Amino acid sequence: MTGRSWAEPYKIKMVEPLRMTTREHRNRAIVEAGFNTFLLRSDDVYIDLLTDSGTNAMSDRQWAGLMLGDEAYAGSVNFEHLESVVRKYYGFKHIIPTHQGRGAEHILSQICIKPDDSVPGNMYFTTTKFHQELAGARFVDVIIDEAHDPASNHPFKGNVDLCKLERLIESVGAERIPYLSLETNVNMAGGQPCSLENIRATCELCHQHGIRVFLDATRASENCYFIREREPEQEQRSIPEILLEICSYADGCTVSAKKDGIVNIGGFLAVNDDDIAEEARNLCVVYEGLHTYGGLAGRDMEAMAIGITESMDLDHQRARIGQVEYLGNKLAQAGIPIVHPIGGHAVFIDAAAFLPQIPREQFPAQTLVAAIYIDSGIRSMERGSVSAGRDHATGENVQSRLELVRLTLPRRVYTQAHMDVTVESVRAVYEQRDQLVGLRFTYEPQRLRFFQSRFAPIVGTSVFANFAFNDDQTVQQSNLVSRS
Ligand SMILES: *Cc1c(COP(=O)(O)O)cnc(C)c1O
Repeated sequence: MTGRSWAEPYKIKMVEPLRMTTREHRNRAIVEAGFNTFLLRSDDVYIDLLTDSGTNAMSDRQWAGLMLGDEAYAGSVNFEHLESVVRKYYGFKHIIPTHQGRGAEHILSQICIKPDDSVPGNMYFTTTKFHQELAGARFVDVIIDEAHDPASNHPFKGNVDLCKLERLIESVGAERIPYLSLETNVNMAGGQPCSLENIRATCELCHQHGIRVFLDATRASENCYFIREREPEQEQRSIPEILLEICSYADGCTVSAKKDGIVNIGGFLAVNDDDIAEEARNLCVVYEGLHTYGGLAGRDMEAMAIGITESMDLDHQRARIGQVEYLGNKLAQAGIPIVHPIGGHAVFIDAAAFLPQIPREQFPAQTLVAAIYIDSGIRSMERGSVSAGRDHATGENVQSRLELVRLTLPRRVYTQAHMDVTVESVRAVYEQRDQLVGLRFTYEPQRLRFFQSRFAPIVGTSVFANFAFNDDQTVQQSNLVSRS
């Protein structure tokens, strides 16, 4: 099939019309949102590349599954279906459903962590680390150095550095490490996979010291696809085969099914240990709901069971990860500086290289996010000095090594044509990059400031210098919209 055209492995049965807006409208919308795309109304967004979390398109089977919701308070048949699917593909003995990933993280952290423990992990994830710290632990990053280097082309940037892990075990003692948190296809590293070999070696080292390993298997099936593509002797194996092997090395996992699981809400905790499972069911009842629904409707569990099954399909993963690659390659071909290798769920633009004239204190990535939105209505996310926040002790802005803009692709939602439009918009902004001016805070929240902070341009009223509000700067689709 090499050399032949490729198409999405599905056809469209139901459509959700997109709202086209004028440039004038978007200029007003981004000013009202304080130049923060998190504060935009989704109505004002054309192509939404903010996140792949819960934004996926369900299949006809999943929608049909919703009608099979068994909304009994206890012992729902949908829970049994979910349980059998998770056992089949992940291989763990006990399954506790939760309303989403952080529900599972909360329960696991509360059970396993004692105050002053250390929990190593291959880069942090916001909610995972938060729950570990809430339970009294200190998070220790043991990912390989290449993960922090946007210029490194390492094929498995999610790998654990075994030397860092050994040093931690030596310094604090294995008894102060309740478990290692091993994330597959590491989100904060840009959707970068771990190799099967590294997962095996990491779990072996932990188990030699009596340390458990819990996977954050939120993007495990996407990781399996990369193992198949990149690791020697894995190319003939199926995603379920590789996933079962990964899980066979671990003691359990937490999952946000809003990603790989192709649903809009849901998650679970899965473990082998009977005592942990017993306690997890007890805490589930307190925080989530009865242990056979965990904060979910029966229909949600049915959609999740079907979505997990669909995520094991090679054609699905090839299209999903292939779409991210398509977008990344086209941007790179257009001369846009992006992070390599291209990850599983998003393309990251290097905003510091894109806008060298804008100093870090004027937030180049936030500026670029606003400019792309103004140009085309495409919504992306800042992952740089705004997200990095301030140092608790000194109050200074944290010097983030990476100054990135994330274009995140929801699963099965957009077509290749939407990717082309996205590339054109980024390219149009790139051609005007000399005109862009940075931002300053007008409101800065204390915690997780990227969600709610507000900005204004350093000079003028727009991130595009010399901009004046008028109606003649419109993009191609703007003539379809009557201005309000
Ligand atoms: C999204 C995510 C979580 C948290 O899951 P929620 O469903 O948002 O609570 C945890 N870990 C990773 C890697 C994630 O991407």
